[in-house]
Amino acid sequence: MSRTVAFIGLGHMGGPMAANLVKAGHRVLGHDLDADALASAARAGVEPAASAAEAVSGADAVVTMLPAGRHVLDLYDGVLAAARPGTLFVDCSTIDVADARTAHERATAAGLRALDAPVSGGVVGAEAATLTFMAGGGEQEFTEARPLLDAMGKKAVHCGGPGAGQAAKICNNMILGVSMIAVSEAFVLGESLGLSHQALYDVASTASGQCWALSVNCPVPGPVPTSPANREYRPGFAASLMAKDLGLAANAARAGGVHAELGLQAAELYAAYAERAGATEDFSGIVRTIRQNDGGHA
Ligand code: NAD
Repeated sequence: MSRTVAFIGLGHMGGPMAANLVKAGHRVLGHDLDADALASAARAGVEPAASAAEAVSGADAVVTMLPAGRHVLDLYDGVLAAARPGTLFVDCSTIDVADARTAHERATAAGLRALDAPVSGGVVGAEAATLTFMAGGGEQEFTEARPLLDAMGKKAVHCGGPGAGQAAKICNNMILGVSMIAVSEAFVLGESLGLSHQALYDVASTASGQCWALSVNCPVPGPVPTSPANREYRPGFAASLMAKDLGLAANAARAGGVHAELGLQAAELYAAYAERAGATEDFSGIVRTIRQNDGGHA
């Protein structure tokens, strides 16, 4: 069934996601503070709205894809009053779990409904409509959002109540950040012991060291020809985004009194690495900083 969807935040991810909603036959009213982002979405069939409130007031559902929690909460504060009663707000941004829960509370208090639905799959997944959504909120809201999520992705998992989607996202990425550091340290240790990258890969990728960081996004060039290491670490999944997600995981661990020692350390290592590499390097490039700290054995 075709819906009228307001889409706020038409950047690297939101732009192609909104375009895929248009392709699936939905009417999309878009808004972004950046005129170029709005113009580019308009070329893909999104109808530009002069303000977020204007887009929201004419919609049955609202999708947001914004940088951080404060943007989502500020936006909700500005537009909730403009929405029709019962409108479903689906926030696909990656934000703090506590902010996601606050967003749910504010939407509900305004007589609206909410779902957090952060994604994995990056810009490539956003363009190809192959994202994975991790959703938090009520069963009914998830079911109702499903046709929109299906138009933008290939998989959607209902993870639990408000904030559960964000929780799943940061827990998964904490595994990923820690495992990428572990795999990188193992390659650098192997180098210092005279072990070839291929030999370590051939053993670990079929043994108990097997993981995505090794067998898909291998941080050294050679064993996995499609990994970013083979193209000078061009992303891929940018180091700055990994640093952001690990920062959210670290906040949640501290707030909950969880002794996630490796997760906290990974957050620090990635924050330092991202300061240098910024958005320009894949997160697997952290192997180079580990090698530089290895006393020059490489
Ligand atoms: P982006 O910076 O390209 O896009 C964000 C857009 O939001 C910008 O165009 C900005 O102008 C707009 N914006 C900010 N405040 C606004 C407001 N009040 N009203 C309207 N527009 C506003 O960022 P992105 O890469 O598209 O990422 C968006 C979200 O998706 C982030 O939370 C990020 O962590 C998450 N994410 C990104 C990736 C990725 O690979 N880029 C992958 C997974 C998740």
